[in-house]
Amino acid sequence: MPSSYQAPKRGDFIRETTVSQSADTNLAKDTATVQKLMDMKGGGVFTVRPEDTIAEAVVILRDKRIGALVVADETGAMQGILSERDIVRKLAETPGQTLPQTVSENMTREVVTCAPGDPLVTILQRMTEGRFRHMPVVADGQLVGIVTIGDVVNFRLKELEHEALQLKQMIVG
Ligand code: AMP
Repeated sequence: MPSSYQAPKRGDFIRETTVSQSADTNLAKDTATVQKLMDMKGGGVFTVRPEDTIAEAVVILRDKRIGALVVADETGAMQGILSERDIVRKLAETPGQTLPQTVSENMTREVVTCAPGDPLVTILQRMTEGRFRHMPVVADGQLVGIVTIGDVVNFRLKELEHEALQLKQMIVG
């Protein structure tokens, strides 16, 4: 029997569409790494000693226009990280008595680090989940740089601008 017209049912028109890129795929694991970011911004890291005072640390933070210092001992071994957040917290807890305190009394000792080969997408995830904005870069046990959440966002913006330009050039021909 010839089949008569049937009204379309739910699901008849599910099309196989191409899926636009997600944030994950945009921060492509093979292209955007910590190393690539460091090639762009350089690898210098400002450090303080655990026995330095907060008064000394805030001068460096101001002069270098940065938000955190890696704390390293005389051998260069990383002992912690001191961020402006730690200082602000202590200023509220010990008003008028914070500046003479030592860095070691105020730093975070358990430092989350990354490696040059780490994809930037995982750096963003770790920073977001851990609620911190700085991550020292360690290679073969040596401190080789520091990345901030601002660096990662900035890097991604530049990549997007470059991709947009390439697309425009493809369209214009
Ligand atoms: P931040 O947002 O980086 O200024 O820091 C917020 C808090 O996290 C402060 O207590 C810092 O000492 C701490 N912190 C910053 N970076 C790290 C890191 N990579 N690993 C562990 N703690 C951190």
